[in-house]
Amino acid sequence: MLMKAKKSLGQNFLIDERVSQQIIDAVRPKISDIIVEIGPGTGALTQLLVDESGLVVAVELDARLIERLRREIREPNFHLVEADALKADWNSLLDAAMKQWREFHPEITAAPRLRVVANLPYYISTPIMERLLQLHGRLFDLTLMLQEEVVDRIASRPGGKDYGYLSVLVQYFCMAEKLFAVPPEAFSPVPKVHSAIVQLIFHQPKPVEVTDEEKFFAVVRAAFAQRRKTILNNLKAAISILHFATAPIIALENSGIDAKRRAETLALAEFAKLYAALFFN
Ligand code: SAM
Repeated sequence: MLMKAKKSLGQNFLIDERVSQQIIDAVRPKISDIIVEIGPGTGALTQLLVDESGLVVAVELDARLIERLRREIREPNFHLVEADALKADWNSLLDAAMKQWREFHPEITAAPRLRVVANLPYYISTPIMERLLQLHGRLFDLTLMLQEEVVDRIASRPGGKDYGYLSVLVQYFCMAEKLFAVPPEAFSPVPKVHSAIVQLIFHQPKPVEVTDEEKFFAVVRAAFAQRRKTILNNLKAAISILHFATAPIIALENSGIDAKRRAETLALAEFAKLYAALFFN
């Protein structure tokens, strides 16, 4: 049964069952997995996840949907949390999920994998993703439905037209792969944008070593500040804010990067070298 969607909560419910199944096929949940679903909505993915995984913890903000899900999904390996995913204490939530999974599966001695699956509300998809990335070391992967344009930015490689701050941020933590596009008609109500599924598998360990992540991402952000400018000019414009230990022109030379290049051509490893040269060499 359909429910009147709340625009303010980014509610576009998935109604195409083939797409739901395609997502489950991509996730391939196992009994040894704990799936955290953000925004289960009317349960288009939830029941399928409950059927195949060891435990599903679903975080939903809308009380009407909570009530409906409680009525419809009654399996003991389903746990519903009424919370705002942006404000939730994620470490406590994951601790509680681990404890619950162990109670259900005392026969499995290996630790479960913590995995996130979500058709995210697009109005807060970036801040939610930023919070999830901070859980590296705990989470195994994220399978997310996002606006297609955002997925293209996340998965783009150096030199690609969509490569930018978001690509470097996500690819520092994860291997990113765009899986497939989902047309607007797969949802009700029909959104104005196209969607796509991206799978983010956390690197273990991270591909580059960075001692101060905040400073590293500040450098990346500054490097992309104006896409048409060279990397040197963008870094020069940030001197008064970032207080580099080494002048950008010298740092670029020391890291073997041509000062005339643009940030969109730099690979993650080059950003890491540049950050070290700017602050520590
Ligand atoms: N998963 C369902 C589906 O695929 O049909 C619903 C997806 S809908 C795009 C987004 C869902 O996130 C809605 O159920 C909405 O109520 C919920 N939501 C919105 N903001 C939220 C928040 N801050 N925390 C948790 N859930 C939220």
